[in-house]
Amino acid sequence: MRNIASLTAKTHTHTVSPASDGGWDVVSGSSGNTYHVRYQPELEGYSCTCRWALPKGGSNCHRPVGCSHVMAAVAFHKLEQDRKVAFKGDLESARRQHRPISDLGQGILAVSRRIA
Ligand SMILES: [Zn+2]
Repeated sequence: MRNIASLTAKTHTHTVSPASDGGWDVVSGSSGNTYHVRYQPELEGYSCTCRWALPKGGSNCHRPVGCSHVMAAVAFHKLEQDRKVAFKGDLESARRQHRPISDLGQGILAVSRRIA
């Protein structure tokens, strides 16, 4: 299982801004590179242009990606809808929250709750 706490900490170092195509540009806090995150309805998940998300030599649009850039974009997007996201690594602890769950892929689950 991936370390959700350290991934979440990494997420907080990224800077997210909305892109003109409805996706998000995410500037990495560690490398300074900009990655593009999009929701892919056919995957029911998100894609990212980072190296980590790309399968060997292929396009990144064949599977949902749960990288830290996607996590940052999801947290940003939910905040715009007055929702705060918590990331979980297993379905059991995600379900314990009794709140909507989105599966980002690679074992990353986003649980969101309404904030005032
Ligand atoms: Zn990424």
